[in-house]
Amino acid sequence: MKNEHPPVNGKKSILLDSLIACTLSLCAIMAIDHFNLLSYIKGNTNTVAQQEVAQESVCKFGFDVSGYFFNDYELKANQFLGDILYYEGINYETISELEEKSKDVFSVRKLKAGKNLTFVRPDSCAAPCGFIYQPDAYGYVLYDFQDSVQVKYIEKDVVSIVETASGEVESSLWNAMIDNDLEPAVIDMMEDALSATVDFYHAQKGDRFKLVFERNYIDGESIGVGKLLGAYYNNDNGDHYSVRYKSEDYEGYFDLDGKATKRAFLRAPVKFSRISSRFNRNRLHPVKKRRIPHLGTDYAAPYGTPIQAVANGVVEIVGYGRGNGKYVKIRHNKTYKTQYLHMQKFAKGMKKGVRVSQGQVIGYVGSTGLATGPHVCFRFWKNGKQVDHLRENFPPAKPMKESEKPAYFEKRDEMKAMLDAIPFKNSTNIPLVFNEDEAQS
Ligand SMILES: [Zn+2]
Repeated sequence: MKNEHPPVNGKKSILLDSLIACTLSLCAIMAIDHFNLLSYIKGNTNTVAQQEVAQESVCKFGFDVSGYFFNDYELKANQFLGDILYYEGINYETISELEEKSKDVFSVRKLKAGKNLTFVRPDSCAAPCGFIYQPDAYGYVLYDFQDSVQVKYIEKDVVSIVETASGEVESSLWNAMIDNDLEPAVIDMMEDALSATVDFYHAQKGDRFKLVFERNYIDGESIGVGKLLGAYYNNDNGDHYSVRYKSEDYEGYFDLDGKATKRAFLRAPVKFSRISSRFNRNRLHPVKKRRIPHLGTDYAAPYGTPIQAVANGVVEIVGYGRGNGKYVKIRHNKTYKTQYLHMQKFAKGMKKGVRVSQGQVIGYVGSTGLATGPHVCFRFWKNGKQVDHLRENFPPAKPMKESEKPAYFEKRDEMKAMLDAIPFKNSTNIPLVFNEDEAQS
């Protein structure tokens, strides 16, 4: 096999180094932003925060960037890892030990063409003393042979930055989300957090909302939204607040008085999904082309999207039907059961009698049975009859104990102040700045 292998290139290392430095400084800026918020909440923790950032900015993959050289090698199809390493100047003995030790950590068969191996050298023309492969954004495999040969999978740190958003409903919540450049995840979380106090089924023009939520970053790149920390919704019935509170005994969303604002049932079995067909007793069936009532709510989502149990319960059926495809039915209490149809596959361990908790993944979105595309047909059973869950008034989650309230009220006051400070305008993701001096400089 011919192997065109570029020689180690000093310029390339410098370029890469400055790229790393840029990414890291981006990291640092965001981390500081984040810590500003923390200091707002918890008092002054800036000193600690900055030290942490400074420490992080000189290391890459655990190597001090001032003492090592890095260069990327792009993997091509049909290459053997052993060949590449040998051409890099790594001896056979080390290579075979690496391959042996890698077996339990990361199979070399999972290396993908187009991705990089990042070689680390003690100086620009020396043989590598290690290399790195990053299968995804969440971590990397470190092959270290400075002293002894070691292969480790290292999970990367996730940094959460707090963001805010606001919006107004023009035609629908979905459009409000698009108009305000928000992700479905954020609106989804708001609807769940306020599901016991706001009727989102009847969201109307002029309804307004504000949100405080986390966004998660790895190496300065967003990997998606995290938790919703607080929400405000204003409609005909007035102001509605929802504050996330977590203590040893409680985790949930509560209003200004400490009453649960989240229902015992999640609104949708798929996160970040879109309703593609509502519950309708008089629907023209898309496959059968006849009027057949649609006794469920369809949530369109890509193949393989996790499907979650909407509430705690016990699995009653893990089955297959010609129309339903692969499906799971869960019993929640003596009144309610839920059913999830057209799954691509079931989650591991799903069988009759298994206990599931709210939010637990029970299967993955597919189109088995009679389905035109990937979606979950979600069916809600109340006393043995199928109902439209979006029109049901479910009981709220369990109330907070009196003894818990003082701690909650402290948290509530901070979050309410933050929500109230968010302006209404047609832009989103306004960075939070609490120190006015810093904002002006
Ligand atoms: Zn359906």
